[in-house]
Parts: sequence; C-alpha cells; structure tokens
Amino acid sequence: MAGEDRITEEKWSVTDFGALLDRANIWRAYVLYENGEIRLSHEELAPVRSFFERSRDFAQHEAVFFERERRGLNTIFTAFVHDTRRGLAQGGLRLWKYESMADLLSDGLRLSQGMTRKNALADLHWGGGKGIIALPPNVPSVEGYKDAVFAEERKRLFEAYGRFVASLGGVYYTAEDMGTVTTDMNVLLANNRFTTCVAKDRGGSGNPSAHTAWGVFKSMQAAWQHLHGTDDLKGVRVAVQGAGNVGAPLIEYLHRAGATLIIGEFAPSIREQVRARYRDADVLDDHEQIFDAEAEIFAPCARGNVLNPGTIARLRVQLVCGAANNQLGEPHDAELLHDQNILYVPDYLCNRTGIMNCADEWAGYLEEDVALATERLYTDTERVLRQAQERGISTARAADDMADAAAAELHPMLGHRGRRIIEHLVRSGWSTQQPAGEPKP
Ligand code: NAD
Repeated sequence: MAGEDRITEEKWSVTDFGALLDRANIWRAYVLYENGEIRLSHEELAPVRSFFERSRDFAQHEAVFFERERRGLNTIFTAFVHDTRRGLAQGGLRLWKYESMADLLSDGLRLSQGMTRKNALADLHWGGGKGIIALPPNVPSVEGYKDAVFAEERKRLFEAYGRFVASLGGVYYTAEDMGTVTTDMNVLLANNRFTTCVAKDRGGSGNPSAHTAWGVFKSMQAAWQHLHGTDDLKGVRVAVQGAGNVGAPLIEYLHRAGATLIIGEFAPSIREQVRARYRDADVLDDHEQIFDAEAEIFAPCARGNVLNPGTIARLRVQLVCGAANNQLGEPHDAELLHDQNILYVPDYLCNRTGIMNCADEWAGYLEEDVALATERLYTDTERVLRQAQERGISTARAADDMADAAAAELHPMLGHRGRRIIEHLVRSGWSTQQPAGEPKP
C-alpha cells in the first residue's frame, strides 16, 4: 500500500471513505504523527497516511481523529489537532460539502495549522485545531440543511458530534465556523465541556463579529500609517466585499471615519439595505466587479480564496486588509501581492478578535479584555509589517515566521498536555470503543 495515493487517484468521496470504515467494522480511527513517523490506529487508513506524506498541507500534525456517524447524516466526523505545545487545540467546527475526501483532508490540515498560527500570534495559550462534519451528497446544501424539516436530524447530528468532542478528552476545543450557528454550539455544549463561542445566555461571549470588525479597522489604520504616515482614512476609497456579520459593522466604522465606500455584496436584499443606509456609498449591482474597483484599499469580508492570480491581476489597490479567512488561494499568492506592490495584512492577524473573544470565555468573559486586546492589533500589525519590510519578505511570511516561533513555546502551566491527552486516548483504546448511541454493526 505504501506509496499509493488512492485517495487522490481514485477520487474517493466521503461516502467511499465511510464504506471503507464499514467494511472493516471501524467506528473510530486516528492518524498520529510522533517522532518523525505517521502512526495509524488501523492499517485500513494506509491511504490516508500516504495522502499526508504527499500533501503540501501536512505540517507534522499531531493527530487527526475520525468517527463514523450513522444515526444522523451517515457521514464522517473529524477533529484535526495540529500543534498543542502552546495549549490545547482550538478551532471552529465546519459543516461543509466536500467533493472528495482529499478536499476534506486538505481543508482540515490547512485550517488547523492556520489556527495554530492565529492563536500563537495573538498570544493566546491555545494550540491549533479544526473540526469538520462532511455534508453527504444526499443533503442539498449547507444552507438547505438549516430548513426546519431537518431540525431534529440536525440536533441529533450535533449531539453526536458533541459526544465525539467529549470522547477526545479536551485535546480539541470546538467553536462556530462556516455552516454552523450558535444554536448548534448550544447543542454541542450540552454534550461536552469543550465548546467555546457560546451564547451569552449560556455564560458565553456571543456573536464576536462587531469586535472582529473593529480589529480589522485597527489593522487597516496601522497599515495605512505604515504606507502614508497617517492613519486618517478620511476620503480614502475602500472596497468592501461582503456586508454580512463582519462587513456591516466594518462599513459603519469606515463611514464614521469618513472613508469613501464601494461595496460588493452578493445578496440583493442586503445590497438594498446598505444602499438605503449609506446614500453616498457605491453599492455595485454586480458584486464581482469589486476586484476592479478604483480604490486604495480592498477589504475582503465574504469568503476565502479571493486572492489568486486571476483576481490579484485585477486589483488596483495599495492595501488588502479584511476579515475573510483563507484569503490566499495558495500561500505563494502572497508573493504575487508583494511583487505587485500591494501591502497585504495577513487575514489571521487582522481577523483574530473573533477567536480572542471566544478564548476570553475560559477565564470568565470580560468584554473590556477583548476591547483592550483589539486595540493592540494596531501595534501588532505595525510589528508584522515592519518585520516584512526589514527582511524584504512578504507580510504573510513575516507573520508565519513570528507565529511559528510563538507556537513552539510551551504552555506555562500545562506544558505539552495535548500530547499527553493523545497518548492517553491511545493507551485507553479510544479507537476500539463504539460511540455511545450508535447501533451495533
Ligand atoms: P456572513 O455570512 O455573515 O457574511 C458574508 C457576506 O458576504 C454575506 O452577506 C454574503 O451574502 C456575502 N457574500 C458571499 N459571497 C460573496 C461574494 N462572492 N461577493 C460579495 N459578497 C458575498 O459572514 P461573516 O461572519 O461576516 O464572516 C465573513 C468572513 O470573515 C468569513 O470568511 C469568516 O470566516 C471570516 N471571519 C469572521 C469572523 C466573525 O467574527 N464573524 C471572525 C473571523 C473571520
């Protein structure tokens, strides 16, 4: 089996992977990286090992856990644990549709490493993790799955994922992400004590979006100062992509600062609301034209993969600074921006206030902590941009280097506890236990 890359070559779907586990009577499985080697709970996972060995996204991830889910959606649960030296792995839970198992694994590997970097650069004592529930082909869409007709099934699904997180003993802390909503977090929280970003009426911190937007605004000011020696955005043309949870408050802060707004929003109803509220703003009829906008700043606040060779060639701006996660199509797209003299504020730097808000729940939530930490984004952004300038490298590389150095520091009290929890799971036979509530095979 070694050397084969069946997952990619045979275009395995999530269903194929589920069938493989079923044939071998496997409910739970893991892939670990330890002392330079990838270890498997079951030899049947050899194709996953060879996929990791070939993947550019595999960065010595400490563990990836799988569980077969048959009661709700007939799907696969995953938890990616990248690096727990600085703290236990934290990162949101994504409910998403994947064309292939390769896409799912790449997404989980990349996103969990991204969380290690985001948390470390924010000085949080968290490691990096990510949860994924794959939406199987028989469910129409992530949005459609929010319909009332699926309500009971959805609740059962999140209860089961909540138990999966509980079974991992605290090595992975979950949170809201694409495809999941606060009510899902409440269901998760009822089934484990490792859920963050929960509603205020459960003692949590609630929706972090306005804080995230303020953080982006502070980073934008710092970057403008870096470019022009002033952080006054009055009259500066800012093209905002997406007027949702984060985009809307960012638009408001920019409006108050006197910026000239160009807005690209996909949803017609939101476009109308924005037009009615900001009469001077140029709300584009075709949201895709935002890449061609005559503006000084581009603020992507909608979705990932918006900075790729095709879009970068269209940009006329001097600065990119926005909330969207995973803005770069590929890491080397940062070099394209650098070569084109466009200053890029790395997404995980300027959008980190969301996760800081959630992390604050741990010690009893104090909104003033988050407000203070958000103000610090100004100086932290300056620090990253200066480093990049001094070393003559892209801002993304400067941020990655700083984040990787911080991620290597051990948690001051817990040490490398995540690794110990993983060892305990292995010793206690986690992968041989049948999940509670699952029917006998
Ligand atoms: P959202 O779903 O509330 O808003 C996204 C908006 O973008 C929606 O109004 C949608 O209609 C619009 N949109 C979608 N595709 C578009 C396109 N191609 N062009 C223009 N508009 C488009 O999401 P959000 O919570 O505001 O998050 C936005 C981004 O910021 C996401 O990438 C998210 O992962 C990231 N982020 C959010 C937070 C937070 O606190 N909410 C924190 C960190 C990162």
